[in-house]
Amino acid sequence: MNEGTQCDVVIVGGGMAGMIAANRAAQLDLRPLVLEQGADAKYPCNSRYTGGTFHICLREITLDEATLRQKILDSTAGFVKPELADVVAREGRRVIRWLQDEGMKFMRASASEYHKWVLAPPGRSRPGLDWEGRCGDVLLNTLERRLGERGGDLARGARARSLIMDGTRCVGVIAERNGKETSFHARAVFIADGGFQGDAALVGRYISRHPERLKQRGAGTGRGDGMKMASAVGAALVGMDRFYGHTLSSDALTNDNLWPYPYLDSLVTAGIVVDGAGRRFVDEGRGGVYVANAVARLDDPLSARVVFDAAIWEKAGRNGLIPPNPHLEREGATFHRAASLDALAAATRLPAEALRRTIAEYNDAVAAKRLQDGLTPPRQTARFEACPVATAPFFAVPMCAGITYTMGGISVNANAQVLRADGGSIEGLYALGAATGGLEGGPEVGYVGGLAKGGVTALVAAEHLAETIQRLRPKRG
Ligand SMILES: Cc1cc2nc3c(=O)[nH]c(=O)nc-3n(C[C@H](O)[C@H](O)[C@H](O)COP(=O)(O)OP(=O)(O)OC[C@H]3O[C@@H](n4cnc5c(N)ncnc54)[C@H](O)[C@@H]3O)c2cc1C
Repeated sequence: MNEGTQCDVVIVGGGMAGMIAANRAAQLDLRPLVLEQGADAKYPCNSRYTGGTFHICLREITLDEATLRQKILDSTAGFVKPELADVVAREGRRVIRWLQDEGMKFMRASASEYHKWVLAPPGRSRPGLDWEGRCGDVLLNTLERRLGERGGDLARGARARSLIMDGTRCVGVIAERNGKETSFHARAVFIADGGFQGDAALVGRYISRHPERLKQRGAGTGRGDGMKMASAVGAALVGMDRFYGHTLSSDALTNDNLWPYPYLDSLVTAGIVVDGAGRRFVDEGRGGVYVANAVARLDDPLSARVVFDAAIWEKAGRNGLIPPNPHLEREGATFHRAASLDALAAATRLPAEALRRTIAEYNDAVAAKRLQDGLTPPRQTARFEACPVATAPFFAVPMCAGITYTMGGISVNANAQVLRADGGSIEGLYALGAATGGLEGGPEVGYVGGLAKGGVTALVAAEHLAETIQRLRPKRG
C-alpha cells in the first residue's frame, strides 16, 4: 500500500462484509483497498469469532423470497424498511453460492432448519471461544488470499478516522497508521467497521446506563468510527437502541468459559426473569435477544436473575448445541439450587416474599392460560411454551446481557448507499454489515442475521459501484 494511493474503492474494515465487498469489487474490475485497524495477521473481529450460521430470521436462507420477506417484516414489527427486507430475502441465497464459488464449504450442523447452512469446519460444541482454524477464521483467510490473487490490498494497522469529501461526494478516507495520518483517495468508500458495541460512551448513550456491566459477546472491535465519520458528513443514523446478543451468566464478565457459549436463552424462555426486587420486568416469551436488551436497560443490568425449576432444568436446560445444562455448573457459573423458594431467595439475595408472590402469580397465569391478559408484564407463548416454576429443587442464575453487535447504525438503501435524513443518498458512500441500521431492531428487537446482512450489503454495494462507474465511463466513439 502506498500512501496517498488512488484506488477505486477504500473499504473501512476487514471483517466478512468488507472482505466480500473487496473481492466482489475486484471481480468487477475495480481496484479495492481494505483498511483494517487490527495489526495482527489474525486480527480479531466478529466475523472471525462467528458461529457461522447463515440464516434469515432463524429460517433457512434459501427459502422462497416471499416467505423470507414476510418473516423479516413480521419479526421486526414493521420497523424494517421494506426495500431492505426485499434485498436480503432476494440476495441471501446468492451469498451462499458466491462463497461456495470462492471455495468455502458449508455443512448442516443439526436437524434444525436454522442450522442448514453453517460454515465448515464449525466451532466445536464446547463452552468459550473456539475460532482458530474454524468457520469465520477460514472464511477471512480464504477471502484475504482471494483478494491478493485478484490484485486487491488489505492494509493492517490502519484505523480510518474521517472521510474526505469533494463537495457532496465522498472521495476518500483519512486513516491513522503508525501514529501518522494518511489520506486514501478513491471513487467511493465502503464503511464496514462492524458497529459500535465496543465503544462504552456510545453504548452508554444509546443502549445502557452501565455499559461496563454488559459483556462484550464478541471481539468488541466495532467502536463506532464508521457511524461517526458518516454522520459528520450528513448521514442519518437509525435504530440505535437495539443490539443482537444473548443472555449470559453474570460470571461471563470474568470467566472466559462462559461466553459466547453457553447462553441462558433456553432457561430464560422457559422460566422467568426477575430484577433485584424479585419482580418480572420483561416478556420472556419474546426470546433471548429481546430479554438481553431489556436486561441491558435495567437501572442495574447486573441485578437480573433467571429463576426456574427442576423440570425446566432437565428439559429446556438441555436444548441447544452447547446447552446451559450441564455446562453452566461445569464451568463454574454462580448457580443457586434450593429445596424451597424461601431458601432460593436467601441464597440469591432476593426478597423472599416478593419472589414467592411473583412465582405464585406467574404459575396461576400459566394454569389459567391467561398469560396475555392476566399477567404483568404479559408473556407470549407463540414461540416458547410457558412452564410453571413448581417442581423442587428451584434454581436461580445471576445474569448479564451479552452484546454481540449493535443492530442500529448508518441508514442505507437497498444498494447499501448511505442516506441523509432527507432520504437522499451521499454520493460515493456506502455502509455494509453491522455498520448499517434499518434492517434489524425495532420494538420487537427483530434479529435478521449478521452474516446474511453482511453478505448481502457487501455484494450489492460492490455491484452498484461497478455499475455506476461503468455508466459514467466515457463511451469510445
Ligand atoms: C460469537 C459470535 C457468534 C455469531 N454467530 C452468528 C451466526 O451464527 N450467524 C449470524 O448470522 N451471525 C452471527 N454472528 C454475527 C456475525 O458474525 C457478524 O454480524 C458479522 O460477522 C459482522 O461482520 P462485519 O464485517 O460487519 O463486522 P466485523 O466482523 O466486526 O468486522 C469489522 C472490522 O472492521 C474493523 N474496524 C473497526 N473500526 C475500524 C476503523 N476505524 N478503521 C479500520 N478498521 C476498522 C474491525 O477491526 C473489524 O475487523 C456472531 C457473532 C459472534 C461474535
